Amino acid sequence: MSEILYVVGTPIGNLGDISPRALETLGSVDFIAAEDTRVTLKLLNHFGIKKPLISYYEHNKHEKGERIIDRILAGESCAVVTDAGMPCISDPGEDLIRQCEQAGIRTVVIPGPSAAIAALAVSGLPTGRFTFEGFLSVNRKSRCEHLDSLRYERRTMIFYEAPHKLPNTLRDLYEVFGERRLTIARELTKIHEEIIRTTTKAAVERYADDPLKGEIVLLVEGCREERAPMTLTEATAYARELVDGGMRPSDAAKEAAALSGIRKNEIYRELL
Ligand code: SAM
Repeated sequence: MSEILYVVGTPIGNLGDISPRALETLGSVDFIAAEDTRVTLKLLNHFGIKKPLISYYEHNKHEKGERIIDRILAGESCAVVTDAGMPCISDPGEDLIRQCEQAGIRTVVIPGPSAAIAALAVSGLPTGRFTFEGFLSVNRKSRCEHLDSLRYERRTMIFYEAPHKLPNTLRDLYEVFGERRLTIARELTKIHEEIIRTTTKAAVERYADDPLKGEIVLLVEGCREERAPMTLTEATAYARELVDGGMRPSDAAKEAAALSGIRKNEIYRELL
């Protein structure tokens, strides 16, 4: 089991969701890198697994990542886990995968539940195409810029959310997207699991002043209207802005072409 990093999914609430393969892996590696060692210790104790744990989280990931890589290269096997769900998905792990790639260490995934996919499955919204947006910023300006960039997104959008931020997020979702179908998936796999299939407007009216508790995934229906096509004048104006900002005209025309669907040469000619 040497020179391998195992990326192990753990339950998002219900411990019955741990897989036999996850337990076998956690029981057989040399050490486990955990987001919060206290949380993982509880999980391991529940299943009678004893393993050395080291903490690996957002703010120590550079220093600890190198230590983990060194230990794996020295012959130890490691499993990385987070407090709940899949590592690397709005959770630590992404950088460690890159470090493994650079060091030539093999990575093996032991898939487990992920709140985003579980919520999408029961959302009642189209599941064929979706976009995962992670957490929105706490900063209102950044949050609204993020939402604005999704105004014409046609795929179902998935957001992670913390309960104390929910009222403001609901207001912003309604302000930016207008009336859309919205699903709030709360406390999945836990005692108080609740799937609220509502709309952006109804959710503001109902929950903005009486927030929901627990862990939440928000899913917003994609835009149903076709975006009004950009005219050549608009595309050229956009390219000109990019040039004014320092971009080369041919690159600006290329970007404007990608955005508008108009041929690059046409925009370039107008621009000059
Ligand atoms: N890596 C995890 C995964 O794969 O699902 C996500 C970790 S992220 C730090 C935590 C967020 O996931 C929560 O704030 C919430 O939005 C969502 N989440 C986690 N568990 C959940 C649950 N049981 N029900 C609903 N949402 C959950």
